[in-house]
Amino acid sequence: MSRVGAHGAARSTGPFLAPPGRVLSTMNEDGSRRWLEPKPSPGRFLTARRITAYILIALFTLIPYLRMNGKPLILLDIPARRFTLFGTTFFPTDTVLLLFLLLALFLGIFLVTAVLGRVWCGWACPQTVYLEFVFRPLERLIEGDARRRAKRTSASRSLRRALKLAVFVLLSVYLAHTFLAYFVGTEALSHWVTESPAEHPVGFVVMLVTTGLMLLDFGLFREQSCTVVCPYGRFQSVLLDRRSLCVGYDARRGEPRGKHPKRLPLADERRGDCVDCGACVVTCPTGIDIRDGLQMECVHCTQCIDACDAVMDKLKRPRGLVRYGSQDELAGAPRTGVRWRLVLYPLLLTAALGAFVVLLVLRQPAKVTVLRGLGTPFALTQDGSVTNQIRIKVANRGAADASYHIELEGLPEAELIAPENPLFVAAEHSAETSVFVVAPAALFKMGSREVVFRVRDERGFDARERYRLLGPAAGGRR
Ligand code: SF4
Ligand code: SF4
Repeated sequence: MSRVGAHGAARSTGPFLAPPGRVLSTMNEDGSRRWLEPKPSPGRFLTARRITAYILIALFTLIPYLRMNGKPLILLDIPARRFTLFGTTFFPTDTVLLLFLLLALFLGIFLVTAVLGRVWCGWACPQTVYLEFVFRPLERLIEGDARRRAKRTSASRSLRRALKLAVFVLLSVYLAHTFLAYFVGTEALSHWVTESPAEHPVGFVVMLVTTGLMLLDFGLFREQSCTVVCPYGRFQSVLLDRRSLCVGYDARRGEPRGKHPKRLPLADERRGDCVDCGACVVTCPTGIDIRDGLQMECVHCTQCIDACDAVMDKLKRPRGLVRYGSQDELAGAPRTGVRWRLVLYPLLLTAALGAFVVLLVLRQPAKVTVLRGLGTPFALTQDGSVTNQIRIKVANRGAADASYHIELEGLPEAELIAPENPLFVAAEHSAETSVFVVAPAALFKMGSREVVFRVRDERGFDARERYRLLGPAAGGRR
């Protein structure tokens, strides 16, 4: 069996080489889970984060119920492939628009991270908000800390654990409903809730699975979602630079750390300000020591700032041994040079947003797509005519139902056979119809012939789509 030293080089007492210390902040050196019970540190940042968290929880819950232009503020209807954002619905035919929107979103994240570091993780991410301001406080309220739990009888501990589980299940049910409302809409959700599960078996299973995942995440997996699963933390090394804002420890001021003998005067230059009390470590929700430098596991929650400020207040030393600052500022490096990413990101962001707005303004109220029919490219009939089967797809982006008239232009000798003409398309839906074009074979001199499909409605929408009919290469003499 291998043994591991707390720090330093790997060593082995058996056939396996042991790792040189703890590999994950949430794993003991023997591979078992290291359960974290971060101790909250009251302070100005915790108060501000708590207020922000409660506002965000209210927003997360309310957004699916809010309406703009008669539509949900946000609805990501994946099965129907329709995405409604701030009163505008996007369809699969809006790929380029959505591409620019996504690009702008990513560039916005890059810019915010370059300037403010992981402010999203520590202040606004639903994982942090619900775990640190709902689940963990309730757990502390019901079960108490380790010292209190140890004093209780085993019956009392079991009872409290069962109560906690019941509360967590209820909270997970609420969270699953809130989360799914963004994807199925509040109307569908109210049917799922008020009607028998037998009427919505798929919805019921989706809700059960989502509730189970929420319970697993907030009850068991917890901070590992940030330190192991979430890709955002792993991008930090490229998204941050040495002048990005982060939570950091001022090693120049704090070192040499240690529990100094009382007789050593405070001003003695042999002592640093860090008294190695560990307050910043026991409060950390991801189980790391901020004094080890910038780490991927640090979600910039600021709890170590509040903890250390309280210690400094007691010792009557200036606050800010652990503080918001850049790596350069904490290291005392001078500010020099241009941060090119702060020039490039805003320029690219403006370009992406500009392209999105222009395309949105120019967007037509409907989109017509003309596709070749399935099966053989064309058919020759006994009277010498050529028949092409064509699929015409119309996406109605408008808020009202519409009927689209289909006409053929550019080939007067040809006959258009359209079983559904006009084609009815419900508001914000797509419909597809098959049409047939019958034309004399003699028109297909080079094996094809260009025509134009004109599609228009009563609201003024009028589109022309070019299409190449196929036929015999030598006008019917094959
Ligand atoms: S809370 Fe401050 S003084 Fe205490 S160990 Fe952390 S950095 Fe040092
Ligand atoms: S090191 Fe400090 S800021 Fe980072 S996660 Fe831990 S307590 Fe939060």
